[in-house]
Amino acid sequence: MNQFIGSRALPDLVYHRPNTLDDLLGLVKGVEGDYRVVAGCTDFIPAIRGGKWRFADGINVVDIRGVKSLSGIREENGEIVLGAATRLSDILASPLIREKAPALADAVSQMASPQVRNTATVGGNLCMASPAADTAPPLLVLDAKVTWRTADGEETAPLNKFFLGPGTTVLSPRSVLTEIRFPVPGSDEAARRTRMGQRTAFVCSIISVAVWLKGSPENIEAARIAMGAVAPTPIRITVAEAALAGKKPDEATLAEAAKTAAAHIAPIDDLRASAEYRKSLAETLTRRLLAACVEDLTAYKKSKTK
Ligand SMILES: Cc1cc2nc3c(=O)[nH]c(=O)nc-3n(C[C@H](O)[C@H](O)[C@H](O)COP(=O)(O)OP(=O)(O)OC[C@H]3O[C@@H](n4cnc5c(N)ncnc54)[C@H](O)[C@@H]3O)c2cc1C
Repeated sequence: MNQFIGSRALPDLVYHRPNTLDDLLGLVKGVEGDYRVVAGCTDFIPAIRGGKWRFADGINVVDIRGVKSLSGIREENGEIVLGAATRLSDILASPLIREKAPALADAVSQMASPQVRNTATVGGNLCMASPAADTAPPLLVLDAKVTWRTADGEETAPLNKFFLGPGTTVLSPRSVLTEIRFPVPGSDEAARRTRMGQRTAFVCSIISVAVWLKGSPENIEAARIAMGAVAPTPIRITVAEAALAGKKPDEATLAEAAKTAAAHIAPIDDLRASAEYRKSLAETLTRRLLAACVEDLTAYKKSKTK
């Protein structure tokens, strides 16, 4: 067996780095044999080194980072648009994300390390479809949509329809995720997220939770709750969201919604945590995040009446 310092050697690689989207899509359409579209390779290389992915006959690696239009962050027609190849470090450094989507910046700040964030991309995180993908819960509560292209056309889907199972998405074969977009949150909206791991950094989440509320301290108009590492994919928990809509967000209502959320997840026992512990965390963290969002809505109301 090919072994290299305790891990597998890379297979024969043919490296492609197109500079335009048309060239990229043409290449992906026509490439023969095994291929992978890659960005930062922070999941790709460990998956090969660890033996999760094997390409005995070699592989074509199509690096999308030469295509400038796939990177960057902009505000456009009331939406924030992230190019799929935008690096995590650029998301973290973006004044627009920090101001308008601090829950996403917060999630990214706890991912991996500065070195990994300098090459890892948001699109790679979503396409890898890990149940614990840390950008997924905040993007789910921000109501993100994802767009992908093939040489023959373009498709868009809500992010909550994107994940099919661990490592699987709705991406059609020979397609490239191009962008992620979500509505610019209004001032009557608040979003928060958190995660628990065995350490504060450089670990896979035991659980991650994000919540979003729209309304006022007197009435919740709409709510979104999402979690990672509690099911085969990152999920929205719509039953618990419905329990909040149209209600006054008092302690009992928030506690009931958090309890409902924890009752509708399907975590597993693994080496990081037991299912029971994850359920208990799900309830506690959801309740705390909801309360924090209500405080944000209260603070905004006070600032308006000053
Ligand atoms: C040390 C370390 C720590 C980490 N910590 C975390 C963490 O805390 N939280 C977390 O969520 N993840 C973590 N990761 C995982 C990884 O860094 C992230 O998932 C990262 O965002 C992947 O992005 P990438 O650009 O490197 O993806 P790549 O490795 O380039 O690609 C990953 C997968 O996505 C596909 N892909 C990538 N871009 C596209 C595209 N535009 N269109 C179609 N398919 C595409 C590839 O084919 C591949 O299957 C860690 C990884 C390492 C090595």
